[in-house]
Amino acid sequence: MYDDHNREAEGRLVMKLSDGRELPVEMWKTRIVQKINLVPVADRLKAIEEGGYNTFLMKSNVIFLDMLTDSGVNAMSDNQLAAWMNSDDCYAGSMTFYEFEKAVQDVLGLKYVMNVHQGRAAEHLIPKVFSKPGDIVPTNFHFTTTRAHIEILQCTMPEIYKDEAMNTASKYPFKGEMDPEKLNAIIKKNGAKKIAFVRMEATTNLMGGQPFSMANLKEIKEICVKNKIMMVLDGSLMCENAYMIREREKGYENKTVAQIVKEMCSVPDLYYMSGRKNTCVRGGCIATNNEEIFLKIKPWLPVYEGFFTYGGMSQREVGMMAVGIREMVDPDLAGATVRQIKFGIDKLVAAGVPVVTPPGGLGIHVDAGKFLPHVPHNEYPAGALCAALYIASGIRSMERGTVSMDRTPDGVERMSELELCRLACPRRVYSQSQIEYAIDRLTWLHKNKKLIKGLKFTYEPPVLRFFLGKLAPIDNWGEKLAAAYKKEMGPV
Ligand SMILES: *Cc1c(COP(=O)(O)O)cnc(C)c1O
Repeated sequence: MYDDHNREAEGRLVMKLSDGRELPVEMWKTRIVQKINLVPVADRLKAIEEGGYNTFLMKSNVIFLDMLTDSGVNAMSDNQLAAWMNSDDCYAGSMTFYEFEKAVQDVLGLKYVMNVHQGRAAEHLIPKVFSKPGDIVPTNFHFTTTRAHIEILQCTMPEIYKDEAMNTASKYPFKGEMDPEKLNAIIKKNGAKKIAFVRMEATTNLMGGQPFSMANLKEIKEICVKNKIMMVLDGSLMCENAYMIREREKGYENKTVAQIVKEMCSVPDLYYMSGRKNTCVRGGCIATNNEEIFLKIKPWLPVYEGFFTYGGMSQREVGMMAVGIREMVDPDLAGATVRQIKFGIDKLVAAGVPVVTPPGGLGIHVDAGKFLPHVPHNEYPAGALCAALYIASGIRSMERGTVSMDRTPDGVERMSELELCRLACPRRVYSQSQIEYAIDRLTWLHKNKKLIKGLKFTYEPPVLRFFLGKLAPIDNWGEKLAAAYKKEMGPV
């Protein structure tokens, strides 16, 4: 069923309605459901207070739509659950691993593969093997766990995106691109030997799932080849990138997502991913066609992850991931979130709510800096907007702004260039009406934005502070917002 790529040309994901509108239609049916709950606004206020105005610290029984992340919360398919039952549980030599290896070879076109327990385990192993203190790892955009691992090893990770990337109201289709001139300048200034590797992330998670073009990936690779620098691709969100290349890059209109994914994987020297995103399973992998690179990493796998036929995952997960790899290039899956996000973004733009454009592949990103211009940058506008959205809707979003930036090693606060409130769209999880609800509550908040003020830390952990940090609202604005909501919208 998933091999039928002819369907792609039909563009069935977007139904044209008879009145001319376009509706993204889900190409699956629901066979198992989980009940969710919308608690009254008074309870929501209590819950966010208990969670220290940090959406990470809330229990799921008070969450209505959980749009914190797309990580590990995507809906699996019937075939993945069947693979769970059929997996071959053994420590060494499991046939399930070899099925996974075959899927990687077929879909990614990469010969050598090892599992790791999550994406960040790959981010632990790769720089451990390929960098030394003082090295540089240029990247199109950082990811939280990537940067933490690079900096623990006393390396630096400059982000060399193009200027357009920071324009939240942009029309540029490939904001995830690396700037080749900036890369050349870094190589010239420091020498190629100081560059441990160049890292490209497809799509850029913290930028809102913005893609890069194939042309850019290849241009950067050329620079790497010329300077004998290794290129690493973080492909955790690669299928959405491939789908947007198909939609936006000249020459790719008639290629399938499967073909584009394979072409992308043929460019870097080394590939890794978190399976929690595109393959809808907990786990990850590292893969390459370069045997020498592979053999440098492989001996370290049993030290940190496990024997090479399971790499820190259970065989059940390896089996589900083998199916997930084959399914992830299905345009109905790769394009589903892209379409859903576009639907939301178009409506929010029309309602005057400042959101990141063009739509990316990960979620709806609200520009909290523009949404709350009266909240100073050092009072965390994105964190405040996430808390406010929860109070007004029961929707859990994620702060992607200054709270998500750790201080420099000298203790200076790093101001994020973007203050985003991210409503992630987990794959195949939320329906069209639920997205409409989110749009409505964001619009209501925008009309009442003056009620929202800033936050201050009451507990600040030393690393990845956004996970466990606690904050408090300045001037008790949470209570005032909840009261205004109740007055206009009722107790729920
Ligand atoms: C999620 C993610 C990671 C980390 O993977 P985990 O499985 O959460 O450890 C790394 N890079 C990108 C781009 C991601 O989206």
